[in-house]
Amino acid sequence: MSAIVFSGNPLDRAEPHRRDAAWLRERLCEEATRVLPVWRLSPLVRNGEPPRLAWATPALLDGRDAQPEPVFLGLLDGVAHFAVDLSDRPDPLVEFGFEGVAHFPDLRAVAGLLPPGDAGIAAQARQVVDWHARHGFCPGCGERTRPKDGGWSRWCSACSSEHFPRTDPVAIMLVTDGERCLLGRQPAWPRPFFSALAGFVEAGETLEEAVRREVLEEAGITVEAVRYLASQPWPFPASLMLGCTAHAVTREIHVDRSELEEAAWFARDEVVAALRAPTPRLAVPPPMAIAHRLIRAWTEREGG
Ligand SMILES: [Zn+2]
Repeated sequence: MSAIVFSGNPLDRAEPHRRDAAWLRERLCEEATRVLPVWRLSPLVRNGEPPRLAWATPALLDGRDAQPEPVFLGLLDGVAHFAVDLSDRPDPLVEFGFEGVAHFPDLRAVAGLLPPGDAGIAAQARQVVDWHARHGFCPGCGERTRPKDGGWSRWCSACSSEHFPRTDPVAIMLVTDGERCLLGRQPAWPRPFFSALAGFVEAGETLEEAVRREVLEEAGITVEAVRYLASQPWPFPASLMLGCTAHAVTREIHVDRSELEEAAWFARDEVVAALRAPTPRLAVPPPMAIAHRLIRAWTEREGG
């Protein structure tokens, strides 16, 4: 199976350099340094096939206001890589001469087409740029905060507090009873789209406890044998999907209508068919989603 979309970021995050403001300033004066423009949460992508991230030089930053400051993403072959948020510009493609060369696509639409390393960098850039855009004020005292450490924290000088980009853990689980798997659909999803059940891990809860709680809350099913399989960064806006499997010890579904429109058991052959192409009763998530991986892995496992 191909790599999980948004995994495989090749950058060395070089954490010690983040704290070295002089080093960061020097890198932003080097021609070799690469800067990824991000505009309204979309990374700049080169036109043509296959799409790739489009990198600019630090000259892009000449004459710009200090805010928002570039975020240091990391090093690749000794070259510093930054992301810069151009969202305050009405038309950066024209302003910076990218028109006809590159564009700002929706990351969800383009992520599965980008080389794996590029998608990982795009996820990192989108998530941290978005965090800065929405955390300009201190949650403790309400004063304005400033970026710090290459953009990996924000500092409030009024109350001397430091704030860090958040990553929200989400449990996503494929529940099976052997020959069938449990899938659910939210009211907003087009029919007949179903996916694995999912929910945020809450405060004071293990991943396994979150899986058991969410399945019981959403579908009324009691599960055991929760197993972690793989994870996926999901920067919409700041999730980490924690893919699990679980075995159902009860079968009767009771749907919580505030969370799901419907939940149902699907036989293995129905799911295998839907992985090839949507059927009248079932469409499953696309390969870029970890739910797809969980579902596919189950169909390929002997005796599930
Ligand atoms: Zn404060």
